[in-house]
Amino acid sequence: MGRDNFLERTLLLGFILLIGISMPVFPERSYSVMRKEMVDKQIIKRGIKNERVIEAIRKVPRHKFVPDHYKAVAYTDGPLPIGEGQTISQPYVVALMTELLNLQGDEKVLEIGTGSGYQAAVLAELADKVYTVEIIKELAEKAKSKLKNLGYKNVKVKYGDGFKGWEEYAPFDAIIVTCAPKDIPGELVKQLKEGGGMVIPVGRLSQELKLVTKKDGKVRVEDIIPVRFVPMTGGKEK
Ligand code: SAH
Repeated sequence: MGRDNFLERTLLLGFILLIGISMPVFPERSYSVMRKEMVDKQIIKRGIKNERVIEAIRKVPRHKFVPDHYKAVAYTDGPLPIGEGQTISQPYVVALMTELLNLQGDEKVLEIGTGSGYQAAVLAELADKVYTVEIIKELAEKAKSKLKNLGYKNVKVKYGDGFKGWEEYAPFDAIIVTCAPKDIPGELVKQLKEGGGMVIPVGRLSQELKLVTKKDGKVRVEDIIPVRFVPMTGGKEK
């Protein structure tokens, strides 16, 4: 091989590598292969049984909810940064929290902590209406247009403080909180319908995922597993 030829090839290879590193974008088909594998290994194998939840996670394109440079790792077993210091939850945690809500299809659900909009999209596959509140304006706006572009017509996104819930549409059949307050916010318990359930991570340094249910006017709190979420900011905890 002549010297020029070698140089040319090296430059070409470098160029291809550079493109590969800066834009790790795969064809859509490979994302669905990765997604299927994620559902088998991270969701079903770990004990998620609800068929509707499994189907929803199999369907929602998680790679479209992460920043472009994380697309290639969108289906790995962990949380990922989504900007503004926030994260999209680990797929298993999304599945577990969703399963705990036991949605049948006709519910009105409130989510606190829209973030990327991924969890809202999963809920939108499983319930009648989803109302989601996000305290960081940029994230709320981004999630809103993303969900709209993906054709989710049954999700409403609001920029605001989740400690207040979303009174206008209350009470809710189910509530899911994806950021961690120190204590269970009273207003959210108030906006939960009789017979409904709320999943919420509670605590600061160590957190526990809790299932709060309301039956015959009584509130019951059950510990599920230790978790790690970003803190719930704003409201009384400011
Ligand atoms: N469910 C999201 C992940 C959320 S990360 C997803 O699927 O991508 C937690 C989010 O909660 C962050 O975006 C954070 O800004 C938001 N948050 C924190 N405190 C909040 C509050 N008081 N009200 C509403 N959102 C809040």
